[in-house]
Amino acid sequence: VAAARDALAQGVAGNLAGGTHHAYAHKGGGFCVFNDIAVTARLMQAEAWRHHRQKMKVAVIDLDVHQGNGTAHIFAGDPSVFTLSLHGEKNFPFRKEPSDLDVGLPDGCTDEPYLAALHQALQTLQDRFDPQLVIYLAGADPHEGDRLGRLKLTADGMQARDRVVMDWAWQRRLPVVLCMGGGYGHDIETTVQVQMQTWDVALGYWQRWHNLGR
Ligand SMILES: [Zn+2]
Repeated sequence: VAAARDALAQGVAGNLAGGTHHAYAHKGGGFCVFNDIAVTARLMQAEAWRHHRQKMKVAVIDLDVHQGNGTAHIFAGDPSVFTLSLHGEKNFPFRKEPSDLDVGLPDGCTDEPYLAALHQALQTLQDRFDPQLVIYLAGADPHEGDRLGRLKLTADGMQARDRVVMDWAWQRRLPVVLCMGGGYGHDIETTVQVQMQTWDVALGYWQRWHNLGR
């Protein structure tokens, strides 16, 4: 919530943890107790209404390798929140909930098809929805070194992914709040490296917003 408020004020901000997208309104699941994305989206909407009489639309770009089933379920039928999930089709959760846009990727998916699918998904999002805030789940688990991910993205591919999302939002001057989601490297160092890259990319876009405000 604090990161989202900062993102709305500064363009980019994030939570070093979070992204608990498997939690439903009525139950937890998959390492997630409460759905921080849903709480944040709803609270930012309520605050925008209270302070500016603005009906804020929120896009959730969930690139954790596991489908954002809890988030999808919570916002099903809510036209003010668009849920996009790009995930491993064969991976957990095995019973998925329909998001506004789901892209299920095959096991072993590499950088090139992944990035093509991401570009396509963002284009579809843009055709169907006009957000004022983006919540980005930058899961590290699509990386090839992940124990649970089943995809084969390189570190460069993961960084390109972050750039695609951050650049898409920057082009539209949409504030982005990041959260980390999953990351289960065989070697913890590789997961940390992938996450560090994400923050490095995010910092670059924060600086762009900062320069804009001067
Ligand atoms: Zn995950």
